[in-house]
Amino acid sequence: MQTQQLLIDGKWLDAHEGGTIPVINPNTGQQYGTLARGGSRDIDRAVTAARAAFHGPWGNLPALEKGRLLDRLGELVLKHEDELSHIEANDVGKPLTQSRNDVRALARYCEFYAGAVDKVHGQTIPYQKGYTVLTLREPFGVTAHIIPWNYPMQIIGRSVIGSLTAGNTIVIKPGEDASLTTLFFGRLTLEAGFPEGVINIVTGYGEEAGAPLAAHPGVNHVSFTGSSRVGSLIQKAAAGNTVPVTLELGGKSPQLIFADADLDAALPFVVNAAIQNAGQTCSAGSRVLVESDVYDDFTRMLAARFKQLIVGPAEGDYDTGPLINPSQRARVNDFLAKSTDLEILARGTIVDDAPAGGYYVSPVLMGEVPPSHRLAQEEIFGPVLSVIRFSGEAEAIEIANGTHYGLVAGVWTKDGARQLRVARALQSGQVFINNYGAGGGVELPFGGVKGSGYGREKGLEALNSFSTLKTIAIYHG
Ligand code: NAD
Repeated sequence: MQTQQLLIDGKWLDAHEGGTIPVINPNTGQQYGTLARGGSRDIDRAVTAARAAFHGPWGNLPALEKGRLLDRLGELVLKHEDELSHIEANDVGKPLTQSRNDVRALARYCEFYAGAVDKVHGQTIPYQKGYTVLTLREPFGVTAHIIPWNYPMQIIGRSVIGSLTAGNTIVIKPGEDASLTTLFFGRLTLEAGFPEGVINIVTGYGEEAGAPLAAHPGVNHVSFTGSSRVGSLIQKAAAGNTVPVTLELGGKSPQLIFADADLDAALPFVVNAAIQNAGQTCSAGSRVLVESDVYDDFTRMLAARFKQLIVGPAEGDYDTGPLINPSQRARVNDFLAKSTDLEILARGTIVDDAPAGGYYVSPVLMGEVPPSHRLAQEEIFGPVLSVIRFSGEAEAIEIANGTHYGLVAGVWTKDGARQLRVARALQSGQVFINNYGAGGGVELPFGGVKGSGYGREKGLEALNSFSTLKTIAIYHG
């Protein structure tokens, strides 16, 4: 594989400083390519190109034409589904079926927002006699998208496509561990006919490319998904230019299993929410809170399923693939090594022929985890599910809300009044009743409260996040 170049102003370029970053396959630990190592000069060029496109071809393009471009982009993404899925499987270590889901989600974002782009309406406001008052939804200008390695295509869909739809132009800084599908997406935007400079991609390390992007005075909004530590840095950088940010910082999302729940229905959702993408998911359901009366039964069911879970190379499409890199694997193993006070209730199996250099960790079911334990409080970002016991609704809510985070929650009960009572009491950006994730629909606004961040992406709500409102009051007598 040749060095993958930066996409700036519709052209593929080497990094100004000329450096590269290795591309490692987490399934094997082997290097199989290099990426351009972008820096502040490259960011500067990308922001300048995005600014010119905002004031030029993108700003002048009728909404209907923007929608047609997004439609074409979605079709191209689907046309390349196989290629994109295999690239992602080898770049992120995501099992093929899950990689394929990400490709389809990206195409679906394009479809959804293609239909929305000419429906971004303002309002008229009744006011004093002699006035007509109206509001206009206006784009910010240039938006920065600093994205992580865990779901590149989904995050491009929900942040980049949403922002384009609101009328902005884009600079993307992908995760240094997984940039390949983002660069492929860049190719497809050119093939679809997006004007030069509308979408720019600068690969590179966080401190070298991400930090100058977040702090660039030519950027009007920053969308960030990743760790809390970097999220704070992004806020500080953006504050220097008085620029708004959207932060998606992960979670410790609970699923609440009440005694009257349909345990058979809940089981696959609880397991999948914990192990999808080897647990490296911001909305992972990494805590399951089980009511005392059914604790033993449900824990037994979970343990039986965890023992069946198989881990292996992504191309083999097992239940989970490897973790993204050695430090992520060390982090997960450290959590486990420091939790010897707890019982491992069950563990999955790594296939015998998994390459020795891959970053594999078998899924682990831990119990009974006290709510204050580190495993029940911190985002592990690995395939570890903590089982916690509760007695009664009040205690369930207290434990569920008792972490720093508030991204997603699942509630399993047949009692309709309880469903709504609990949903309203949970401090969480999304609550799912008798399901988890609702299939990830692009229509559903997404984002956190508390330490999980703020701002909303996905759905029509994203168009508010990626735009500003202008009020015009006309006096005509
Ligand atoms: P990270 O926050 O370090 O990286 C996310 C993105 O930010 C990457 O593109 C990175 O290059 C960039 N970045 C890093 N430092 C930066 C800086 N100083 N300024 C601007 N951009 C910068 O996350 P990570 O190293 O990929 O993962 C570490 C931990 O973060 C994980 O263990 C997990 O807990 C969390 N995480 C959360 C999510 C999520 O979806 N919420 C995704 C990935 C990681």
